[in-house]
Amino acid sequence: MERFDVIVVGAGNGGLVAGTAVAKAGYKTLILEKHNLPGGCATSFVRGRFEFEAALHELCDSSANENDNGVKSIFTRLGVEVPMIYEKTLFRTIVKGEDGYDVRLNSGYDGFLDSMEQAVPGCRESVKKYLDLMALLNEAQDYLNNGVPNPAKLMGKYGDFVRAASHSSDEIMAEFGIPEKAKNIINTYWGYLGVPCDDLNALHYLSMVESYVSNKPVMPYHRSHELSLALVKAFQSYGGEIRYNSEVTEFIYNSAGAAVGVKAGGKEILARKIISNIIPNNVFNISDETKIPKSAVKLANARKLGLSFITAYIGLDASAEELGIEDYSVFICNSPDTRKQFEDRLNYGMYVVNCLNNAVPGASEEGTSMLFFTLPMMPEDFPADLKAEDYKKYKNDYVKRYIEDYEKTLGVSISDHIEEIAIATPVTFARYLSTPAGNIYAYSNEGWDNVVLRTVFDNIDKKIPNLSFCGGHGIRGDGYSSAYMTGAMTAEKVIAELRREM
Ligand SMILES: Cc1cc2nc3c(=O)[nH]c(=O)nc-3n(C[C@H](O)[C@H](O)[C@H](O)COP(=O)(O)OP(=O)(O)OC[C@H]3O[C@@H](n4cnc5c(N)ncnc54)[C@H](O)[C@@H]3O)c2cc1C
Repeated sequence: MERFDVIVVGAGNGGLVAGTAVAKAGYKTLILEKHNLPGGCATSFVRGRFEFEAALHELCDSSANENDNGVKSIFTRLGVEVPMIYEKTLFRTIVKGEDGYDVRLNSGYDGFLDSMEQAVPGCRESVKKYLDLMALLNEAQDYLNNGVPNPAKLMGKYGDFVRAASHSSDEIMAEFGIPEKAKNIINTYWGYLGVPCDDLNALHYLSMVESYVSNKPVMPYHRSHELSLALVKAFQSYGGEIRYNSEVTEFIYNSAGAAVGVKAGGKEILARKIISNIIPNNVFNISDETKIPKSAVKLANARKLGLSFITAYIGLDASAEELGIEDYSVFICNSPDTRKQFEDRLNYGMYVVNCLNNAVPGASEEGTSMLFFTLPMMPEDFPADLKAEDYKKYKNDYVKRYIEDYEKTLGVSISDHIEEIAIATPVTFARYLSTPAGNIYAYSNEGWDNVVLRTVFDNIDKKIPNLSFCGGHGIRGDGYSSAYMTGAMTAEKVIAELRREM
């Protein structure tokens, strides 16, 4: 029977970083991936003369400081180098209707404050205080990530962090006296986390906004598939082995309940440690239920599954300039209030349209351009009674409505220029990622399910010996950076365990 030091299940962002870090530390490591490609969400696909980005809107890059947990630092430590291009503008947000506005926000600390002041005169000081709190929160989060935290230090030096953990993003903004319109503009990014800001945990939101504002969002030149391939190359250079088309169908445990291996392709493969890049719900479904602590099952069931999307990837036979498309990211909303945007999510409440050519020059052939429509949908929104024969019409009609709304709102005409179009729905994501109900955002970052409690829960009796988790379902919440970070953190823990057990 084959034996490894570590088996990583899933080659998504979290699994690739975790696998690369343990292989670099000298452990015999196997990554098993059910798909024929690495990356999970972090991938691309080709239709005609277009290579479409499948998921990434923008990446929080962070510095390359050896001691921090930013993406760049993790990549640098793993010997992975992918050239990135910085975005000057964070986003353009268009709110329709009487209280509407059309605002572009610049990236970078000063650029952000300047554009906020321009949009809402007099808001600068309160927004500045908010940004400064975000910097402290990030420092605290790094402290929390680096080993078991000292409660006295956490409550003392990082008291604001712990207090903020029990509040919604809206409550923290109110505390700083941020004017309503400024709050609504800053709240635009909620769509990337899928929870409206009156429920969205302040820590998760603050940390995401701070990274985008201060470190500036970046994009790889050749889609996020390039990031995934670079990680695989590094993993293999450290002696790691990756097997594609290798779905794990069972997790194997010994009589004491410790994970000892997995089954893939009908064969058992053993390891000292297993790292799962797949969501706990799925792991429990393919495990002997008597081996899973009841508290772990209860926790998975208590959590709310996060957002999914309908996405449309559109190749146009004219350049962005010719079509009058000026921005990379445009958020279009029918109300300034994120709760209303969320409630109206199936009816233009809030959606995002990205034109990659405006972030990455030359992303498609000269005289062409690409649009990426992201339309939020909760797992329960997808019609359960939809018949297979009606699926195509359902998704085409759904997207057509949004294309028309986009044309009307922006005053552009794209329908006559569509050369290629591919549409993904929660069904597509369920098929490719195997997530419950095609969910792509793992667990919602709301209320009690926040980074502090996730860290606490991670250390109590739900633990299964030798089994660790990493990815968008981990303690940092969903997203590329969070998945990479939990991959790095999990690898550190596993390496420490392996060293102790030598
Ligand atoms: C359309 C879309 C847009 C997004 N936009 C952004 C964005 O702009 N910014 C951002 O930060 N995040 C964004 N995200 C979210 C981000 O992509 C994810 O949070 C992150 O990539 C999740 O990484 P992960 O490590 O959890 O792995 P996943 O991507 O979930 O990958 C898990 C891997 O495990 C494999 N797998 C599953 N089951 C098995 C099994 N039984 N055996 C073997 N392998 C298995 C899957 O095939 C997959 O490769 C977006 C996601 C989508 C889909």
